[in-house]
Amino acid sequence: SELWSCVTLDEASSLIDSTSSPFSLQNFVGGQYIAPPDSLTSSSQHITSFEPKTGRPIYTLPCTQPHAVEAAIKAAKAAFPSWSKTARAERSAILWKVSELLQQNREVFAIWESIDQGKTLERARVEVDRAISNFSYFSTFILHEQTAARMVDGVALTYEHRSPAGVFALISPWNMPLYLLTWKIAPCLAFGCTAVAKPSEVTSMTAFLLGDIFQKAGVPPGVINIIFGDGATTGAALVASPLINGVSFTGGTQTGIAIRRLTAHQIGKHLSLELGGKNPTLVFADSMVPSVRERTIRVAAMAAFENQGEICLCGSRIYVEKSVYNDFVRDFTAYVREKYVLKQTVGAVASLQHCDKIKRYLELAAEQKATFHLGGAPPTLNEDEAQGYWIEPTILTDVAKNSAIQIDEIFGPVVTITPFDNEQEAIQLANDSEYGLAAILLTTDGARMRRVGEQLEAGLVWVNCWLVRELGTPFGGMKNSGTGREGGEHSRDVFTVVRTLHLPAY
Ligand code: NAD
Repeated sequence: SELWSCVTLDEASSLIDSTSSPFSLQNFVGGQYIAPPDSLTSSSQHITSFEPKTGRPIYTLPCTQPHAVEAAIKAAKAAFPSWSKTARAERSAILWKVSELLQQNREVFAIWESIDQGKTLERARVEVDRAISNFSYFSTFILHEQTAARMVDGVALTYEHRSPAGVFALISPWNMPLYLLTWKIAPCLAFGCTAVAKPSEVTSMTAFLLGDIFQKAGVPPGVINIIFGDGATTGAALVASPLINGVSFTGGTQTGIAIRRLTAHQIGKHLSLELGGKNPTLVFADSMVPSVRERTIRVAAMAAFENQGEICLCGSRIYVEKSVYNDFVRDFTAYVREKYVLKQTVGAVASLQHCDKIKRYLELAAEQKATFHLGGAPPTLNEDEAQGYWIEPTILTDVAKNSAIQIDEIFGPVVTITPFDNEQEAIQLANDSEYGLAAILLTTDGARMRRVGEQLEAGLVWVNCWLVRELGTPFGGMKNSGTGREGGEHSRDVFTVVRTLHLPAY
């Protein structure tokens, strides 16, 4: 309850300061928080989570063991018959209540998300707003669902009958914890499924708070269960269970591959995999004319550095038409220095392990004699931040095409800039990646927007903008960025099974 009483960052921080040992999160199973049994209290079965901005321990979470995972799945399975038959108006009303309760507690969620993940409070507020919309959107969506019936040659009347697909494993990463977990929970519950959700072990705090919201909103016990733990023990046991009918997963490509392997023999299991990206931003010379230059720089910078570059949709490979290349590098660097470095609008990266990984890429860039236009040195930190996980926004040029820096998803505030000669080369460079999640196209030429946009191997293409989204549009990646689409009716495909009924037309 103390966690809920914090309405400022200072209050929340002092709560961490004042506790001699970090507080413990508890699984939310069968509608209530449950303390781990004594048999689970050994330290090897607990994980400590640290505050990225300061490196302080904040809380511990249980590393839920397979038998306790199983108990949570059974709770979801027991709740399924009743929830799947609950009238959609009733499900809709409960989801709406969840969105209202989140709205009422917006600041508390934003504060804890910012502390737990390292992101700025402003960014955290945006993400809580999106979590609220996830529930309000699907609450409304299910009220307007329709089924089309067709008459086939006057012989048969056919229609699609959809029913909830069962019990789901919902697994999310650490970069946008509440936003991404609720992007799964909201449609799952809306379409009548029940679930066991597992947030990332790096950022479990807001998922923990969600249990209380579900209780207060009147979600029946067992419909949504939230368990904590790592991937190897808790996540793997969850996705592999034969009682799980579907997995909605967002995270890294290697984990997506592991989940495919774990479930390969369960053909009918629904799999939605939203994976990594190494997204290109294409800057054409026409987008650097004075009337739109500011927008071009702003969009490219935002796409590179929002949330410290820890968004799967970030444009981390910028390609610029040769005639404006020098101008772009100069103006882009000046803008990023002003907007992100001097105004300190970039947060800390999520964990020590991730920070070390990014630093290794920066060392490699230095070894390979890349040019650092910004970054590369340890950032200036105050006393509180000295043990935190900070990386200065980094802009690199002269990076070889086959360098790991250009190929791997670094997932931090690091961007490369490379020149191109013509449109064909730009498309080829953009598509030269194992990933195919998003692409950003900066041009004022209307014909080019479509011509190039339609050739990019990316599930999402943004022209002169980034991250704008309507929740009904299909979201997902091509190639190693994933399989399946989520959003509106595409989420319905994930969470329902469809049978076609043929009725005789007499
Ligand atoms: P990760 O794959 O390491 O972990 C994601 C989640 O999977 C965590 O909850 C983790 O505990 C769990 N997990 C790990 N191994 C597992 C296993 N064998 N079985 C089941 N669960 C397992 O990813 P991360 O490091 O937390 O997040 C960063 C990655 O997420 C990046 O690659 C990023 O691009 C990707 N991402 C993708 C999207 C998208 O929509 N496509 C959005 C955000 C992040």
